[in-house]
Amino acid sequence: MLFRHIQVGYLDTNCYIIADEKSREAAIIDPGGNADEILNIINKEKLTAKYIFLTHGHSDHIAALQEIKDATNAKVVIHHKDAHMLCSPKGNLSIFLGEGFTQPSADITLEGNEKFNLGDLELTIIHTPGHTPGSISIQVGNVVFTGDTLFAGSIGRTDFPGGSFEEIMTSIKEKLLILEDDTKVFPGHGESSTIAIERNTNPFLQ
Ligand SMILES: [Zn+2]
Ligand SMILES: [Zn+2]
Repeated sequence: MLFRHIQVGYLDTNCYIIADEKSREAAIIDPGGNADEILNIINKEKLTAKYIFLTHGHSDHIAALQEIKDATNAKVVIHHKDAHMLCSPKGNLSIFLGEGFTQPSADITLEGNEKFNLGDLELTIIHTPGHTPGSISIQVGNVVFTGDTLFAGSIGRTDFPGGSFEEIMTSIKEKLLILEDDTKVFPGHGESSTIAIERNTNPFLQ
């Protein structure tokens, strides 16, 4: 798997680009800013961006969506419970952080458990509500992208509209910590980790 990581936007959101090495089919996860940098990687690696996955609808994960969509025509994929945030400056919180914005609406809305393919790579959607009602994690082989649900040594905030501490704990314990020990965790902010490290040492999960 081709894997690139850059930090984007004013909250240093982790944006990930993954692709199948052979077919060059790619997905962009959470284009929260720095569209030029994201597109440079796509062009330099000769990738075809098929999907833009949004782990949830908050502004720091979607701010460059319009530019990336316009440049690549990739399909915008988000859970149906967060889809309204793309079109709502209040819903995506951008109005509280400066200039409110809207973004292109979803091409594909999710329920959970869907599978997507990039060439030979298979991506599985895991619905992990709690940070927002439509938060998702995305598993690809022994890697899981966890958005703002699970961080290295921490968990996502649940004090935004639609957040639920009970739900995020259930999501993490029943849907993420059951993954294999050596599964690499790539969160929406901060350092990467593994499922075993988080299961054993994350202070919120002991
Ligand atoms: Zn968030
Ligand atoms: Zn975030």
